[in-house]
Amino acid sequence: MFYHAMLIKYAEIAIKGKNRYVFEDALVREITRTLKPLEGEYTVKKESGRIFVFCPEEYDYEETVEALKRVFGIVEFCPVAVYADQGIEKLCEDAVSYMTEVHPGYSGSFKVITRRALKTYPVPSMEVNAEVGGAVLQAFPDAHVDVHEPELELHIEIRDKIYIYSQSIKGPGGMPIGTAGKAMVLLSGGIDSPVAAYMIAKRGVEIEAIYFHAPPYTSERAKQKVVDLAKIVARYCGRIRLHVVNFTDIQLYIYEKCPHEELTIIMRRYMMRLAEHFARKDDCQGLVTGESIGQVASQTMKSLAATNDVCTMPVYRPVIAFDKQEIVEMSWKIGTFDTSILPYEDCCTIFVAKHPVTKPNINVIRGSETKLAEKIDELMAEAIKTTEVIDIRG
Ligand code: ATP
Ligand code: MG
Repeated sequence: MFYHAMLIKYAEIAIKGKNRYVFEDALVREITRTLKPLEGEYTVKKESGRIFVFCPEEYDYEETVEALKRVFGIVEFCPVAVYADQGIEKLCEDAVSYMTEVHPGYSGSFKVITRRALKTYPVPSMEVNAEVGGAVLQAFPDAHVDVHEPELELHIEIRDKIYIYSQSIKGPGGMPIGTAGKAMVLLSGGIDSPVAAYMIAKRGVEIEAIYFHAPPYTSERAKQKVVDLAKIVARYCGRIRLHVVNFTDIQLYIYEKCPHEELTIIMRRYMMRLAEHFARKDDCQGLVTGESIGQVASQTMKSLAATNDVCTMPVYRPVIAFDKQEIVEMSWKIGTFDTSILPYEDCCTIFVAKHPVTKPNINVIRGSETKLAEKIDELMAEAIKTTEVIDIRG
């Protein structure tokens, strides 16, 4: 079957009252952006409370479906066959030929649902339902009508042309990117933070990212892995500005001055401070991490509190209550898992103590940090100055 168009459905947006237009426009923009790299010219149009994607004369159906599955804000979408309006008899013929091609030999229950967007159409909806239903029954003698719980809904939408559809493909849901502000994701090479980035982006939040690397203790390949992960997430959210901070000197200095069992916590506090610096500079309204309660020593409630202590911006932790297995499953779904498990070193694992504190006392940690007074400001300024920003597009 050749599908001329896709009907885009977007429940959550529709209930947004006055904001509806803002959301629809954002969704049109996001769909347009996502389809742009594909072969051919797609037209995305708002038409009387609906969004349609009109496909080029020649296009790759599978690729188009895959692309639309990545656009946040789409709840579901329906491939539509479009026919010229040549009267009700021809409409019935077209509906039968649609059924023959899309559901050959159909023998289940069905219902015809007509929507007259073109109010001047001479035949009322109920009559179209009856006429088309009759024609389909004749062509498919084993099928039967069930108006309450049909297995198949045959939709006829009357516009300047006749739109016929019966299938629906699940979209990712959520809100279109650009409708909910901007956040800075602390993106490591692990499994959790790319999933966290995806989840926040799904709420319509534009994403920036920050990665702390520690050359020569962490390799160029470890950095490349984070770039690759950002690329995968950017397939959903469009563009990610990835900040790569050289964290080596700060880490070495903490290692030199502070108790080793507190290293991870103190290091994470400096990561947060630096992340917040760039977040403010770039107009982000929050930080995002892939932390999950109890996963490792630095993610007990007390450790999280100690890390959070230095933040003045809200810190969003979308996977906070997820089990590892649940996060893993999401990473399969979004396509980051295989990259996340590549075995490159992480700056956190290199300097970890054998017995890190699991119940840090915030005052003790603050006290330990005073030992850094001499050089830390200078090291922070240097880290900020040498930060590399990579513009990643999906
Ligand atoms: P992930 O799977 O996301 O790496 P993790 O289970 O390895 O998480 P930690 O290493 O304790 O957990 O890191 C917790 C969170 O801190 C990460 O999810 C990420 O948001 C942030 N983070 C850790 N290391 C880095 C890093 N090198 N650069 C940027 N963010 C980091
Ligand atoms: Mg990690």
